[in-house]
Amino acid sequence: MQIHRSVRLGIGVMALAVVASACGGSGPKSAVESAADGHLTIGIKYDQPGLGLRNPDGSFTGFDVEVAKYVADKLGVSPENITFKEAPSAQRETLIENGEVDYVAATYSITDSRKQKVDFAGPYFIAGQSLLVQSDNTDITGPTSLNDGKKLCSVTGSAPAQTVKDRYARDVQLQEFDTYSACVEALRNGAVDAVTTDDIILAGYAARYPGELKVVGEPFTEEPYGIGLAKTDDESRAKINDAIDEMIADGSWERAFNDTVGASGYQIPTPPTVDRY
Ligand code: GLU
Repeated sequence: MQIHRSVRLGIGVMALAVVASACGGSGPKSAVESAADGHLTIGIKYDQPGLGLRNPDGSFTGFDVEVAKYVADKLGVSPENITFKEAPSAQRETLIENGEVDYVAATYSITDSRKQKVDFAGPYFIAGQSLLVQSDNTDITGPTSLNDGKKLCSVTGSAPAQTVKDRYARDVQLQEFDTYSACVEALRNGAVDAVTTDDIILAGYAARYPGELKVVGEPFTEEPYGIGLAKTDDESRAKINDAIDEMIADGSWERAFNDTVGASGYQIPTPPTVDRY
Protein backbone atom coordinates (compact mmCIF):
# COMPACT_ATOMS: atom_id res chain seq x y z
CA MET A 1 0.00 0.00 0.00
CA GLN A 2 2.71 2.38 1.09
CA ILE A 3 4.80 1.58 -2.04
CA HIS A 4 1.88 2.06 -4.36
CA ARG A 5 1.10 5.47 -2.97
CA SER A 6 4.68 6.72 -3.41
CA VAL A 7 4.79 5.39 -6.98
CA ARG A 8 1.59 7.24 -7.75
CA LEU A 9 3.04 10.39 -6.16
CA GLY A 10 6.21 10.00 -8.21
CA ILE A 11 4.28 9.75 -11.46
CA GLY A 12 2.28 12.81 -10.46
CA VAL A 13 5.45 14.84 -9.81
CA MET A 14 6.97 13.75 -13.13
CA ALA A 15 3.81 14.72 -15.01
CA LEU A 16 3.88 18.14 -13.36
CA ALA A 17 7.53 18.60 -14.30
CA VAL A 18 6.78 17.79 -17.96
CA VAL A 19 3.93 20.32 -18.06
CA ALA A 20 6.08 22.97 -16.37
CA SER A 21 8.99 22.56 -18.77
CA ALA A 22 6.67 22.62 -21.79
CA CYS A 23 5.24 25.93 -20.61
CA GLY A 24 8.56 27.51 -19.71
CA GLY A 25 10.40 26.41 -22.83
CA SER A 26 7.78 26.88 -25.50
CA GLY A 27 7.48 29.91 -27.77
CA PRO A 28 10.03 32.57 -28.60
CA LYS A 29 11.26 35.02 -25.98
CA SER A 30 9.55 38.42 -25.87
CA ALA A 31 11.60 41.43 -27.00
CA VAL A 32 11.81 42.61 -23.40
CA GLU A 33 13.09 39.18 -22.28
CA SER A 34 15.75 39.15 -25.02
CA ALA A 35 16.77 42.67 -24.04
CA ALA A 36 17.04 41.58 -20.39
CA ASP A 37 19.46 38.89 -21.59
CA GLY A 38 21.49 41.70 -23.17
CA HIS A 39 20.93 41.11 -26.88
CA LEU A 40 18.42 41.90 -29.62
CA THR A 41 18.00 40.60 -33.16
CA ILE A 42 16.24 43.17 -35.34
CA GLY A 43 14.85 42.76 -38.86
CA ILE A 44 15.62 45.62 -41.28
CA LYS A 45 15.92 46.12 -45.03
CA TYR A 46 19.40 45.82 -46.52
CA ASP A 47 18.86 47.54 -49.87
CA GLN A 48 16.80 50.68 -49.28
CA PRO A 49 19.00 53.83 -49.24
CA GLY A 50 18.03 56.29 -46.50
CA LEU A 51 15.90 53.70 -44.66
CA GLY A 52 17.68 50.39 -44.21
CA LEU A 53 20.96 49.81 -45.98
CA ARG A 54 23.82 47.38 -45.51
CA ASN A 55 26.96 49.24 -46.55
CA PRO A 56 29.92 47.57 -48.28
CA ASP A 57 31.89 47.73 -44.99
CA GLY A 58 29.14 45.74 -43.23
CA SER A 59 27.72 48.70 -41.30
CA PHE A 60 24.03 49.61 -41.39
CA THR A 61 22.51 53.03 -42.03
CA GLY A 62 19.06 54.52 -42.50
CA PHE A 63 16.08 55.95 -40.66
CA ASP A 64 14.69 52.49 -39.78
CA VAL A 65 18.11 51.54 -38.39
CA GLU A 66 18.13 54.68 -36.22
CA VAL A 67 14.60 53.98 -34.95
CA ALA A 68 15.57 50.35 -34.25
CA LYS A 69 18.69 51.44 -32.33
CA TYR A 70 16.86 54.12 -30.33
CA VAL A 71 14.22 51.59 -29.26
CA ALA A 72 16.92 49.03 -28.38
CA ASP A 73 18.68 51.63 -26.25
CA LYS A 74 15.45 52.33 -24.35
CA LEU A 75 15.13 48.57 -23.77
CA GLY A 76 18.65 48.64 -22.34
CA VAL A 77 20.60 47.23 -25.31
CA SER A 78 23.52 49.14 -26.83
CA PRO A 79 24.27 49.06 -30.59
CA GLU A 80 27.13 46.53 -30.31
CA ASN A 81 24.65 44.05 -28.83
CA ILE A 82 22.25 44.25 -31.76
CA THR A 83 22.32 41.71 -34.57
CA PHE A 84 20.64 43.03 -37.69
CA LYS A 85 18.96 40.50 -39.94
CA GLU A 86 17.62 41.08 -43.44
CA ALA A 87 13.83 41.16 -43.46
CA PRO A 88 12.55 41.21 -47.06
CA SER A 89 8.92 42.34 -47.40
CA ALA A 90 7.40 38.86 -47.83
CA GLN A 91 9.30 37.34 -44.91
CA ARG A 92 8.59 39.83 -42.13
CA GLU A 93 5.62 38.10 -40.49
CA THR A 94 7.33 34.69 -40.66
CA LEU A 95 10.56 36.02 -39.12
CA ILE A 96 8.55 37.41 -36.20
CA GLU A 97 6.29 34.37 -35.80
CA ASN A 98 9.26 32.00 -35.77
CA GLY A 99 11.10 34.09 -33.20
CA GLU A 100 14.03 34.67 -35.62
CA VAL A 101 13.89 38.39 -34.83
CA ASP A 102 12.81 40.27 -31.72
CA TYR A 103 11.26 43.04 -33.76
CA VAL A 104 11.14 44.41 -37.29
CA ALA A 105 11.78 48.02 -38.37
CA ALA A 106 11.64 47.73 -42.15
CA THR A 107 9.27 50.20 -43.86
CA TYR A 108 6.61 47.91 -42.44
CA SER A 109 3.06 49.20 -42.94
CA ILE A 110 0.56 48.51 -40.17
CA THR A 111 -2.30 46.70 -41.92
CA ASP A 112 -5.31 44.76 -40.65
CA SER A 113 -4.29 41.59 -42.47
CA ARG A 114 -0.80 41.67 -40.93
CA LYS A 115 -2.34 42.29 -37.51
CA GLN A 116 -3.81 38.79 -37.74
CA LYS A 117 -0.27 37.42 -37.43
CA VAL A 118 1.85 40.05 -35.65
CA ASP A 119 1.41 43.14 -33.49
CA PHE A 120 2.70 46.65 -34.16
CA ALA A 121 4.09 49.47 -32.08
CA GLY A 122 3.96 52.91 -33.66
CA PRO A 123 3.42 54.29 -36.18
CA TYR A 124 6.74 56.14 -36.22
CA PHE A 125 6.29 57.45 -39.77
CA ILE A 126 3.56 57.78 -42.39
CA ALA A 127 4.51 57.36 -46.04
CA GLY A 128 2.37 57.07 -49.16
CA GLN A 129 2.54 54.92 -52.27
CA SER A 130 3.96 56.55 -55.39
CA LEU A 131 5.73 55.71 -58.66
CA LEU A 132 9.35 55.74 -59.88
CA VAL A 133 10.07 56.11 -63.61
CA GLN A 134 12.99 56.97 -65.87
CA SER A 135 13.70 60.72 -65.81
CA ASP A 136 12.84 61.20 -69.49
CA ASN A 137 9.46 59.48 -69.16
CA THR A 138 6.51 61.81 -69.76
CA ASP A 139 3.48 59.53 -70.12
CA ILE A 140 3.39 58.01 -66.62
CA THR A 141 2.14 60.63 -64.18
CA GLY A 142 0.15 58.57 -61.67
CA PRO A 143 -1.49 55.18 -61.15
CA THR A 144 -4.24 55.77 -63.70
CA SER A 145 -1.69 56.42 -66.46
CA LEU A 146 -0.41 52.85 -66.12
CA ASN A 147 -3.10 51.68 -68.56
CA ASP A 148 -2.32 50.01 -71.88
CA GLY A 149 -0.47 47.12 -70.27
CA LYS A 150 2.40 49.15 -68.80
CA LYS A 151 4.90 46.98 -66.94
CA LEU A 152 4.95 47.82 -63.25
CA CYS A 153 7.35 46.32 -60.73
CA SER A 154 6.76 45.88 -57.03
CA VAL A 155 7.78 43.51 -54.27
CA THR A 156 6.13 40.24 -53.27
CA GLY A 157 4.28 40.47 -49.97
CA SER A 158 4.27 44.28 -49.96
CA ALA A 159 1.24 46.46 -49.36
CA PRO A 160 1.79 48.44 -52.61
CA ALA A 161 1.79 45.27 -54.73
CA GLN A 162 -1.50 44.27 -53.07
CA THR A 163 -2.98 47.73 -53.71
CA VAL A 164 -2.11 47.50 -57.39
CA LYS A 165 -3.70 44.04 -57.60
CA ASP A 166 -6.84 45.24 -55.83
CA ARG A 167 -7.28 48.52 -57.65
CA TYR A 168 -5.42 48.53 -60.97
CA ALA A 169 -4.76 44.90 -61.91
CA ARG A 170 -6.94 44.92 -65.03
CA ASP A 171 -4.87 47.49 -66.83
CA VAL A 172 -1.38 46.88 -65.53
CA GLN A 173 1.14 44.07 -65.96
CA LEU A 174 2.44 43.66 -62.43
CA GLN A 175 5.83 42.00 -62.03
CA GLU A 176 6.82 41.06 -58.52
CA PHE A 177 10.41 40.70 -57.34
CA ASP A 178 11.80 39.96 -53.87
CA THR A 179 13.39 43.37 -53.33
CA TYR A 180 12.98 46.95 -54.51
CA SER A 181 16.60 47.11 -55.62
CA ALA A 182 15.81 44.32 -58.11
CA CYS A 183 12.83 46.38 -59.36
CA VAL A 184 15.07 49.45 -59.71
CA GLU A 185 17.58 47.50 -61.83
CA ALA A 186 14.70 46.33 -64.06
CA LEU A 187 13.58 49.95 -64.42
CA ARG A 188 17.08 51.18 -65.23
CA ASN A 189 17.55 48.61 -67.97
CA GLY A 190 14.08 49.17 -69.41
CA ALA A 191 12.58 45.78 -68.52
CA VAL A 192 9.76 47.56 -66.65
CA ASP A 193 8.14 50.99 -67.13
CA ALA A 194 7.71 51.92 -63.48
CA VAL A 195 8.33 50.79 -59.90
CA THR A 196 5.75 51.30 -57.21
CA THR A 197 6.14 51.47 -53.45
CA ASP A 198 6.23 54.13 -50.75
CA ASP A 199 7.38 57.60 -51.82
CA ILE A 200 10.10 57.72 -49.15
CA ILE A 201 11.68 54.51 -50.49
CA LEU A 202 11.48 55.70 -54.09
CA ALA A 203 13.04 59.06 -53.12
CA GLY A 204 16.10 57.16 -51.88
CA TYR A 205 16.57 55.41 -55.23
CA ALA A 206 15.91 58.59 -57.24
CA ALA A 207 18.65 60.30 -55.20
CA ARG A 208 21.01 57.41 -55.88
CA TYR A 209 20.53 57.78 -59.65
CA PRO A 210 20.10 61.53 -60.18
CA GLY A 211 19.12 62.51 -63.71
CA GLU A 212 18.22 58.89 -64.44
CA LEU A 213 15.18 58.16 -62.22
CA LYS A 214 12.40 60.35 -60.80
CA VAL A 215 9.40 59.99 -58.49
CA VAL A 216 6.04 60.93 -60.05
CA GLY A 217 2.45 61.32 -58.92
CA GLU A 218 0.92 62.34 -55.65
CA PRO A 219 1.02 59.62 -52.96
CA PHE A 220 -2.16 57.56 -53.47
CA THR A 221 -2.23 55.51 -50.24
CA GLU A 222 -1.30 56.00 -46.60
CA GLU A 223 1.40 53.70 -45.24
CA PRO A 224 1.87 53.95 -41.46
CA TYR A 225 5.21 52.38 -40.51
CA GLY A 226 5.11 50.28 -37.38
CA ILE A 227 7.58 48.17 -35.45
CA GLY A 228 6.40 44.60 -35.89
CA LEU A 229 6.66 42.20 -32.98
CA ALA A 230 5.19 38.94 -31.74
CA LYS A 231 1.46 38.89 -31.27
CA THR A 232 0.37 39.37 -27.66
CA ASP A 233 3.83 40.63 -26.60
CA ASP A 234 2.00 43.53 -24.98
CA GLU A 235 4.73 44.44 -22.51
CA SER A 236 7.29 44.97 -25.27
CA ARG A 237 4.77 46.81 -27.44
CA ALA A 238 3.98 49.28 -24.64
CA LYS A 239 7.70 49.90 -24.02
CA ILE A 240 8.42 50.36 -27.73
CA ASN A 241 5.50 52.79 -28.03
CA ASP A 242 6.97 54.79 -25.14
CA ALA A 243 10.38 54.77 -26.85
CA ILE A 244 8.88 56.10 -30.10
CA ASP A 245 7.09 58.86 -28.18
CA GLU A 246 10.40 59.81 -26.52
CA MET A 247 12.30 59.71 -29.79
CA ILE A 248 9.86 62.22 -31.25
CA ALA A 249 9.72 64.39 -28.11
CA ASP A 250 13.48 64.68 -27.48
CA GLY A 251 14.37 65.68 -31.05
CA SER A 252 16.11 62.41 -31.96
CA TRP A 253 13.41 61.53 -34.50
CA GLU A 254 13.95 64.74 -36.47
CA ARG A 255 17.73 64.47 -36.23
CA ALA A 256 17.67 60.83 -37.38
CA PHE A 257 15.39 61.71 -40.29
CA ASN A 258 17.58 64.62 -41.46
CA ASP A 259 20.76 62.51 -41.17
CA THR A 260 19.35 59.65 -43.24
CA VAL A 261 16.39 60.40 -45.51
CA GLY A 262 17.24 64.11 -45.58
CA ALA A 263 19.87 63.69 -48.32
CA SER A 264 17.20 62.56 -50.80
CA GLY A 265 15.38 65.90 -50.54
CA TYR A 266 12.24 64.22 -49.15
CA GLN A 267 10.42 66.83 -47.06
CA ILE A 268 10.25 65.99 -43.37
CA PRO A 269 6.61 65.62 -42.35
CA THR A 270 5.04 66.18 -38.94
CA PRO A 271 5.72 63.09 -36.83
CA PRO A 272 2.72 60.78 -36.33
CA THR A 273 0.94 60.04 -33.07
CA VAL A 274 1.56 56.59 -31.63
CA ASP A 275 -1.56 54.42 -31.80
CA ARG A 276 -1.92 52.33 -28.63
CA TYR A 277 -4.59 50.06 -30.13
N1 GLU B 1 5.28 49.90 -46.61
C1 GLU B 1 4.95 48.90 -47.55
C2 GLU B 1 4.84 47.52 -46.94
O1 GLU B 1 5.02 47.37 -45.79
C3 GLU B 1 5.95 48.87 -48.69
C4 GLU B 1 7.37 48.84 -48.30
C5 GLU B 1 7.94 47.45 -48.10
O2 GLU B 1 7.59 46.53 -48.86
O3 GLU B 1 8.77 47.31 -47.23
O4 GLU B 1 4.54 46.58 -47.59
